[in-house]
Amino acid sequence: MRNVVIIGSGCAGNTAAIYAARANLKPLVIAGHEPGGQLSLTTVVENFPGFPEGINGPDLVENMKKQAQHFGAEYLHASVIEAELSKRPIRLLVDGDWIETRTLIIASGASARWLGLPNEQKLIGHGVSSCATCDGFFYRDKKIMVVGGGDSAMEEANFLTRFGSEVSLVHRREAFRASKIMIERAKANPKIKFVLNTVVEDVYDVSQGVVTGVKLRNIVTGEAWDYQVDGFFVAIGHIPNTAPFIGQIDLDPDGYIVSKGGARTSCTAVFHAGDVQDRTYRQAITASGAGCMAAIEAERFLEAEGH
Ligand code: NAP
Repeated sequence: MRNVVIIGSGCAGNTAAIYAARANLKPLVIAGHEPGGQLSLTTVVENFPGFPEGINGPDLVENMKKQAQHFGAEYLHASVIEAELSKRPIRLLVDGDWIETRTLIIASGASARWLGLPNEQKLIGHGVSSCATCDGFFYRDKKIMVVGGGDSAMEEANFLTRFGSEVSLVHRREAFRASKIMIERAKANPKIKFVLNTVVEDVYDVSQGVVTGVKLRNIVTGEAWDYQVDGFFVAIGHIPNTAPFIGQIDLDPDGYIVSKGGARTSCTAVFHAGDVQDRTYRQAITASGAGCMAAIEAERFLEAEGH
């Protein structure tokens, strides 16, 4: 029987592991299908406090993991297939074995939705990004493209005009899903150029190891053309990693965990941390803060139960 199991090994999970391990709770971290979380997909992180020169995203999460292991956290490179959250102890099916735990911290994150272009994944961190706040700064006076027609795309396009010489917003339809105010703001921004009824068919150039352009197609006329860009931001939504918990814990209509205050969820002894609950901030530092909160709540819960 475990005291604390943490699902997810991004900033939220690793920070929860550091706190739980230092509280002598010997946490088990189930690393998940994207070990290291979203930071493992980035290059330099310049906004995590404490690193004046910036730090590589994968190094930052690896350091957090080592810090947690130093205090006794264990890591299991596996994913949760099934979960029983309503009974105590909580049970998790992990790679064919059931694990039992007194408390659970769900820090399984939200994965960025990608377009599925042939070269998209190979260029993540080299011009392809899913986070303007994280990577916009690298595109000062460069040509930037944002894909999507929701609030995220509008917000990212507006934000990126602070840096880029030009921001083109590519959307597959004529109408936007975004709210009126966000559309109006983007339309009023002279640096944003709208490219509608258009899909991206691929991003170049893997042979150079950096984004140099994209192939676009107008779905009304069928016309295809190449367009030079330096930064390619995909803003077509996120998918919270909550599949094993559906029907057992309160989720919002998009599948994010509903917070019941602090790090609490609708299930006793189950706490949330990071992007699996947070659809607003989605930053490394906020996820780490949430991991800390969840670990403190789990620790207090165990103490109150006499463990
Ligand atoms: P979203 O509202 O689901 O919008 C996703 C957009 O991406 C849609 O325009 C969709 O096109 C497009 N898309 C999806 N899959 C695509 C594909 N394979 N190829 C091309 N385009 C694709 O996601 P979101 O913008 O991330 O927003 C998520 C939630 O957060 C929303 O509730 C939003 O209001 C909220 N949010 C709010 C703010 C704010 O208020 N400041 C900021 C960001 C997000 P279609 O429209 O054609 O389906």
